[in-house]
Amino acid sequence: MKQDKPAGLATRSIHGHSYKDAHGSPHMPTYDTTTFTFESTADILDVVEGRKVGSLYTRYGLNPSIFALEETLAGLENAELAWVFCSGMAAVTSLFLTHGFAGIICIGDAYGGTMELLSDQLPKLGIPTHLILGSELDQLDSLLAAGAGMVFLETPTNPTLELFDIAGIARRAHAHGAIVAVDNTFASPVNQQPLALGADVVVHSATKYLGGHSDVTAGVLMGSKELLAPVWSWRKNLGSMPAPATASLLARSLRTLVIRIKQQNASAQSIAEVMARHPGVERVFYPGLPDFPGHALAREQMQGFGGMLSIEVKGGREAATRTANSLRLFALAPSLGGVESLVTQPCTTSHHGLTPEERARRGISDALLRFSVGLEDTDDLIADLEQALP
Ligand SMILES: *Cc1c(COP(=O)(O)O)cnc(C)c1O
Repeated sequence: MKQDKPAGLATRSIHGHSYKDAHGSPHMPTYDTTTFTFESTADILDVVEGRKVGSLYTRYGLNPSIFALEETLAGLENAELAWVFCSGMAAVTSLFLTHGFAGIICIGDAYGGTMELLSDQLPKLGIPTHLILGSELDQLDSLLAAGAGMVFLETPTNPTLELFDIAGIARRAHAHGAIVAVDNTFASPVNQQPLALGADVVVHSATKYLGGHSDVTAGVLMGSKELLAPVWSWRKNLGSMPAPATASLLARSLRTLVIRIKQQNASAQSIAEVMARHPGVERVFYPGLPDFPGHALAREQMQGFGGMLSIEVKGGREAATRTANSLRLFALAPSLGGVESLVTQPCTTSHHGLTPEERARRGISDALLRFSVGLEDTDDLIADLEQALP
C-alpha cells in the first residue's frame, strides 16, 4: 500500500523500527549478549569501518535491541537520530560534555541533578555555566553575545509548570550561532515536539513518561546527525549504555505511550479544575487552566497540557504536609510519569537543598504539592484529594 501521509505518532510508536532480526520477530526481542561473532576479520572490519550497520559490542550500542529502540525513539520526534542512555542524567551529562564547552545558559528551573552539574560540577571542568530565571530572560542575548554555545531549558518546569517559548528562544540562540537543547521529559513527545519548534536537541529522562511504569531507568537524546554523532564516543567511553533488557522493556512501553499520555492529560485536566474550586487550595499550577499564566503559550506550542500539576495548600507548610501524608492513592515518592499517581512536597524532596529564600525567589512555596497523575480512575483520584485536603 502506498502511504502518502506520514504515519501518526501512535502508529510510529508501535511500528517505528525498520530494523528487523533474522527471524522476522514483530517486536525486537531482547538480545542479552555482550558481543557478536563474525565469520572473518573482513566482516568485522565492515562494521568497525562503518560500511555495514551491524551488531558488534553492546556497550557501543551496536546491539539489535538498542538499534530498534533508537529508531523508534527518533521517529517519535521526527529526529534524524536518537541515542539511548542508562539514565536521563547520563544523557544530560554526555550532551553537556560534547556540546557545552563554549558555555551553557540554563533558563529557569531544571531537574536537581542537572542543576548540580551546571552550578557545581561542570565549572570545575572549565565549562562556563550561567543560570538565569524566567524573569531574567532579558540577559539571554548578552550572554549569547559573550559566546555561550548552548541554551538549555525545561518547559514546563518542575514544580511550578513555568512555560518558555521554544521557538522564540531558538531564534535568539541561532542568531548567535548557539544551539538549543530542551529537556522534554515533563511534556513527552505526545504533548510537545521541541525539534519542530526550532530546538536542536531533545533530552528525555525515559525513566518517566517514556517508560511509564516506574520500572525502567533510561535516558534519550534526539537530534540531527551532525549534533548527535559526536555524542556517540562520550556515551561509549563513559559506558552509559542501558542493558539490552532495559532497551526492550522501554520499546515495549513506547507502544502504549500515546494512549497513556492522552488519558493522563484528561485526568490531570479534570483534577486541576476540581482543585481550582476547592476551598482548601490557594492556587493551582496547570497549563490547561485558562487563567494559568502559561496557558496561551501552552495552546500555541503544546498538543496537550500534560499529566503534571501542582497546588498550593491553604494553611502553609504544615497543612501541605498533612495533606501529603493523608493521601491514600497518591503515593509519596519522587519521580513521575508512571501509571501510578505520585505526590511530592518539593520543599522536602527535590528542592530541599535550596534555602527558603531561594525557594521563594523561584516561586516554590513550602505549601506546594506536586502531583504526577497516573492511570487510576479520575473519580478515585479526586475523592482521594478531597478526603486529604483541609
Ligand atoms: C528525572 C528527570 C531527569 C533525570 O532522569 P534520570 O532518569 O533519573 O537520570 C532529568 N530531567 C527531568 C525533567 C527529570 O524529571
